[in-house]
Amino acid sequence: MDTIVSLCKRRGFVFPAAEIYGGFANAFDYGPLGTEMRRNIRNAWWQSMVHGRDDVVGLEATVITNPKVWEASGHVTTFNDPMVDCKNCQARFRADHIDLKAPCPECGAVGQFTEPRLFNMMLRTYIGPVQDESSVAYLRPETAQGMFINFENVLTATRRKLPVGIAQIGRSFRNEITPGNFIFRTREFEQMEMEYFVKPGEHHAAYDYWRKERFRWYVRLGVRPERLRFMVHPQEALAHYSAGTTDVEYLYPIGWQEVEGIASRTDFDLKQHAAYSGRQLTYFDEESGQHIVPYCVEPAAGVDRTFLMLLCDAYDEETLEKNDTRVVLHLHPLVAPVTVAVLPLSRNEKLVPTARTVWDLLRPHFATQFDDAQSIGRRYRRQDEIGTPWCVTVDFETVEQDNAVTIRDRDSMQQERVPIEDLVAALRERFDAAVAQTNRAADAFEPQL
Ligand code: ATP
Repeated sequence: MDTIVSLCKRRGFVFPAAEIYGGFANAFDYGPLGTEMRRNIRNAWWQSMVHGRDDVVGLEATVITNPKVWEASGHVTTFNDPMVDCKNCQARFRADHIDLKAPCPECGAVGQFTEPRLFNMMLRTYIGPVQDESSVAYLRPETAQGMFINFENVLTATRRKLPVGIAQIGRSFRNEITPGNFIFRTREFEQMEMEYFVKPGEHHAAYDYWRKERFRWYVRLGVRPERLRFMVHPQEALAHYSAGTTDVEYLYPIGWQEVEGIASRTDFDLKQHAAYSGRQLTYFDEESGQHIVPYCVEPAAGVDRTFLMLLCDAYDEETLEKNDTRVVLHLHPLVAPVTVAVLPLSRNEKLVPTARTVWDLLRPHFATQFDDAQSIGRRYRRQDEIGTPWCVTVDFETVEQDNAVTIRDRDSMQQERVPIEDLVAALRERFDAAVAQTNRAADAFEPQL
């Protein structure tokens, strides 16, 4: 993990937050490359969950909303993790994460843990000038409730029939007691969630469908399937309203950990909000002529954990011939922060103007970078290290002879000469081929439940 953290800082993926002030514990700012990559993750998710489908629509709800929402959802009373403190070193742990009979993982003291107590994880704030109990509001701990409270509005406005999904990407906040492991667990993070509403009885099939679909999505982004697995929550650990929860886990450097949860939530949330709001959150089923409360299946993923997974999965230190080595991120072109780098062979005045023209040609089509500093070999290495799938090199032949450039492939390091006039199409073709390849792999893959 340290290698990834230092690469992230050095190359501008992730910085410690407020570093000039000594930082801010467990908070991170995303730099230029990290920002691009997060946009790519969000776009890929949106494409797969909304634009690519005919049964899901989007939503952007507020971060701070009416506190009644969190009473109805159960977060005010039950969004608690049992915590213990070590009386010897004051370190705090989630009671379900450690063995309470074992020595303290921090200081080794035995038998020094306090009794577990519950801790509400919602971050509080106050609305308006007076700070008292009547002005308390919460930063949302999940985006999901936005979909339930807008269920009626969305269905009325879109005239949709079941099954219908409502999807949202946005920041969520949890006052995590044990944040850590870089961006894996932070207090401010970003979620990509979708509530998929179906007729009661159809939820079992929807749950199975979404579990597999969501697993496959990571394969579509190029993640190795053998580093992914399902973790089905045992029946006795489920909330009373839940008809099933399955996590998708990835083998991070810190071990198998959740990147996404898929939950079959029955009609619990709509019924709760109906009871608390006094509104009928029902759907008129033309087939049966009855008003029904839809059931809901929820795939809930994290942008930050997906980001960390993609970096860990892509990272490689390769030994090349002549005892040469390179660090390379084998990022899928869909998520790589830079798709194409344009590199003049040198800073020679004959080459740079043409290289800039080539760059101008590519910018409307791809995320690009221009680099003319240092030797061409070093620049290839720099692009390898940030996962750029293709480098386009402009050399003397380009300007003196053939008006063609070289496309160098990151993974194979093979080079191919392409006329400038065909360059956009040639890169597009490579991009599409990479997408088609991982789509085929994902479609052919049968995730094991
Ligand atoms: P965990 O058990 O790890 O605390 P969770 O089961 O509480 O996670 P969910 O409520 O299912 O998480 O949230 C859905 C997704 O949101 C998670 O799979 C994860 O990707 C992301 N997520 C949740 N909490 C955090 C956090 N503190 N930091 C980063 N991402 C988070």
